[in-house]
Amino acid sequence: MDFKKTEEQELLLESLRTAYQRANLEEYFKACDRDHVFPEKAVAAMVDAGIPSLGIPEEYGGTEVDLLTQVMVAEEAYALGWPSLCWVNYSTEVDDILTFGNKQQQESVLNYALRGIKPFTLGFTEPQAGSDSAAMATTATKRDGKVYINGNKTFNTSADRAPYLLCVARSGINENPYKDFSMYLFPMDRPGISIEKLDKIGNNMCGTFEVYLKDVECDPSDLVGEEGKGFYQLMKNFEIERTTICSANVGMARCAYDEAVRYAGQREQFGKPIGSFQLIQEKIVDMRIKIENMQNMLYRTAWKRDNGQSISIDSSLLKRYTGQAAFSVIDDALQIMGGIGYVNDCRISRLWRDQRVYRIMAGTEEIMVHTAGRALLKEAL
Ligand SMILES: Cc1cc2nc3c(=O)[nH]c(=O)nc-3n(C[C@H](O)[C@H](O)[C@H](O)COP(=O)(O)OP(=O)(O)OC[C@H]3O[C@@H](n4cnc5c(N)ncnc54)[C@H](O)[C@@H]3O)c2cc1C
Repeated sequence: MDFKKTEEQELLLESLRTAYQRANLEEYFKACDRDHVFPEKAVAAMVDAGIPSLGIPEEYGGTEVDLLTQVMVAEEAYALGWPSLCWVNYSTEVDDILTFGNKQQQESVLNYALRGIKPFTLGFTEPQAGSDSAAMATTATKRDGKVYINGNKTFNTSADRAPYLLCVARSGINENPYKDFSMYLFPMDRPGISIEKLDKIGNNMCGTFEVYLKDVECDPSDLVGEEGKGFYQLMKNFEIERTTICSANVGMARCAYDEAVRYAGQREQFGKPIGSFQLIQEKIVDMRIKIENMQNMLYRTAWKRDNGQSISIDSSLLKRYTGQAAFSVIDDALQIMGGIGYVNDCRISRLWRDQRVYRIMAGTEEIMVHTAGRALLKEAL
């Protein structure tokens, strides 16, 4: 395992930095955050630089790179200041549909992903079914050769922008819930779908929504993967999602660290730079240790996946550790900035509000103990 960046990876990171700097995004992101607006102009700059195509097979017009390269590129974007939940490389959605989707689903989903558009919002969470996914109550009922979806999904990321919903629903035929779920992919503009925006504390640039589904008519060909295997497919989705979203944890922590260390070198109190005080240095040292640990875990998990090894345990460990470690790094960065860190003009305040969700979404840090803990014991027996 050697994580020295290859020449291709270095070139990709360099082109990302150039595109980011050329587009002059920092003030733009500040305005989008303040106005709760999706950063279209920034996405366009990344599309021009070819970033969304990374990881999409060549036959669909993409550029084939491994998962390790994709997480490195995403991490770098977040380290530069890219807002979370708005990244343009849809590795999870692409992997989902390439693994389980039919040819037509692959073509439409990859076509959106290539253009930097989030192809679908994933619908598993429901008001009564959060961590307990098996409690999902949305139904898929077969009638006259069609399938009708009824239910209420919640916390749907970008449901206002994504062209499709990847919806997990129960048929009610099998008593065992784990064998009763199926996944359906259908357009968000189908009759019977309505959405309602949630007002949240961070990630202002990316909307989060309730999705109501009333007799949404689907074709049997809208099924993704196998009937009755939706729960298993969702668990596979989580392994990739939990890995790729952790590039945000590493990158956002690096972003906050860089800014705080620079500030510590410049800000003077008691006639000296605050960085000369050991209490500040202790924070900087501990922040750096966490960043290096997070980075190693992220790269190792992606490498294992690229080399055909299971990441079911690693992705849970990674998500739990980096969610907490990144929050602690960003919180310490804010502390080093003092009062300035607490005002919205300072980027660290945005990182502090936005990163917090990674301890909750795609499986909470408590549920990561649940998933990895059982598996670790089994591994030892
Ligand atoms: C901004 C945002 C975006 C999201 N995007 C999406 C999306 O696009 N699609 C989607 O489907 N969902 C999405 N989610 C939902 C997210 O995945 C859920 O919020 C998460 O799975 C937790 O579910 P919950 O909120 O219902 O919390 P609950 O499951 O109600 O948990 C509440 C608390 O209880 C703890 N808890 C629960 N069970 C146990 C247990 N067995 N042992 C110990 N502690 C436990 C939890 O860890 C948590 O601390 C998003 C959430 C947010 C905030």
